[in-house]
Amino acid sequence: MIIDVRKLNAQKQYHGSMEFSYSAPDNLIAIPYVKFAGPVEVRFEFELYEDDALEIKGTVKYVLEGQCSRCLKDARQEVIGELDALFEPSDNAEDYSYTRGVILLNQAVDESISASMPYILSCGEGCVALRYSDEPTTKR
Ligand SMILES: [Zn+2]
Repeated sequence: MIIDVRKLNAQKQYHGSMEFSYSAPDNLIAIPYVKFAGPVEVRFEFELYEDDALEIKGTVKYVLEGQCSRCLKDARQEVIGELDALFEPSDNAEDYSYTRGVILLNQAVDESISASMPYILSCGEGCVALRYSDEPTTKR
């Protein structure tokens, strides 16, 4: 995933929206026995400033599939995370930086996916492990 800032400048395209379909690496997922059901949908609006800094604001959307972390049944869950980054044309910027007029988006997108990643996968509200009615009751 790249943004060619030179091309945007040449076309005087200083704002707009972009979409990428990204095959994210499974090592972004910390939940055991869970993987991405398909590519991550990356959508954002961009703004290119006079100093060639480029700001993006949007979302990452993905579906996780695998075993419910509680009852081990098959489970799927859609997750939407926020994507918000500022890329500066410099080697020592505090946020994300880029050189030679080309922005690589992968690091910012990977971090957005990691930040939105749930700690567990749940098969839903009907998950048997979430109900307490099966627990033994104490009688006097
Ligand atoms: Zn479950």
